[in-house]
Amino acid sequence: MLENVEQSVRLGRYRGIEIGANWSVLLIAGLLTWALAASVLPAAAPGRLTLAYWITGTATAVCFFGSLLIHEISHAVVARRHGIEVHHITLWLLGGMAEMSTQSKSARAELQIGLVGPLTSLGIGFVAAALAVLGGLADGLALTAAALWWLALINLVIGVFNLLPAFPLDGGRVLRALLWRRWDDQVRATLAAARVGRVFGYGLLAAGFVLFLAGAFLDGIWFALIGWFLVGASTAEAAVTTETVLLAGVTAADVMSPDPAVVPASTSVDELLERYVLRSRHSSYPVVEPDGTVVGLITLDRIRAVPPPARATTSVRSAAHPLSEVPVLAPDAPAHELIAALARPIPGRALVMSGGRLVGVVSPSDVSRAIHARLLLPPPPPAPVDHDQPL
Ligand SMILES: [Zn+2]
Repeated sequence: MLENVEQSVRLGRYRGIEIGANWSVLLIAGLLTWALAASVLPAAAPGRLTLAYWITGTATAVCFFGSLLIHEISHAVVARRHGIEVHHITLWLLGGMAEMSTQSKSARAELQIGLVGPLTSLGIGFVAAALAVLGGLADGLALTAAALWWLALINLVIGVFNLLPAFPLDGGRVLRALLWRRWDDQVRATLAAARVGRVFGYGLLAAGFVLFLAGAFLDGIWFALIGWFLVGASTAEAAVTTETVLLAGVTAADVMSPDPAVVPASTSVDELLERYVLRSRHSSYPVVEPDGTVVGLITLDRIRAVPPPARATTSVRSAAHPLSEVPVLAPDAPAHELIAALARPIPGRALVMSGGRLVGVVSPSDVSRAIHARLLLPPPPPAPVDHDQPL
């Protein structure tokens, strides 16, 4: 969902999962260490050396991000048990994000994947609290105990916050799984869970606004930020899930427009307008060299970008999107790859190629036509589902 893998720093690999952190995490880590060392720890265990606060504060911040990572890894391990690969885990402003390769195939898998994260955070919280109690009993460990109490509290808060039934928080997945089990309808369950997520999001936004007006500026901004994020994320999740479920089993070859009209690369933009664009209903054309090699895609936007006086002397080759900017799919590419390829607004088309040969073009309207065709069909016979098994 979050396409910000490029903006992240690589931290390492764990069992084939790339672990990274968004740049925002470095900022948060710095702020957190400072808050711990300069105010939280001195207040809880006064009378130590400044250096001791900074060392403990740094270690606490590292443990905090470590516990976020364990939370995400727990999702990944359970997802893998259900046949869903996780290739990236990215830590960012509001926690972590495990990017799963596909959607859950059953309500039971969805429920387990969603629940394990918050339960892991609650577990870490209880362990840290138990250690803090032990540390509090020992002489000279007051500072360590204070740090452990902070870690315990923050993990309990993360566990409970993630159980809120709001997409894309884990509780939203749990809610979706429960509704899915009840209705035996993944799309309906997703739409209902997403609606609840939006209500929570707007609620947090409103609460943030009220806090801000009441003078709690930072808390207000923080609430509003989380609320705004929840509204956007639950809307996006609903759209992607609906599309993916409705297009289950559909490949690029099924929805593409086959044998598209192509334009020779040496054609001028003027010629293209006269001989192709004005005479056909297409709004984009793959650009080919004389030997048949596809070198790019010319769209109306790219044509518009060439000033009218230059159109007679500009070749389609130089005006087009180069092939490197155009998503290329195999004919058997599944629906979720199709949706991901068309999610980028530019060029908004994907080429379907087989063995280096162009076989078709897919546009967003091809995909929406396929979705609407699906909606007109009677629902498929119910697949064997495992919702009767114990969890
Ligand atoms: Zn989680």
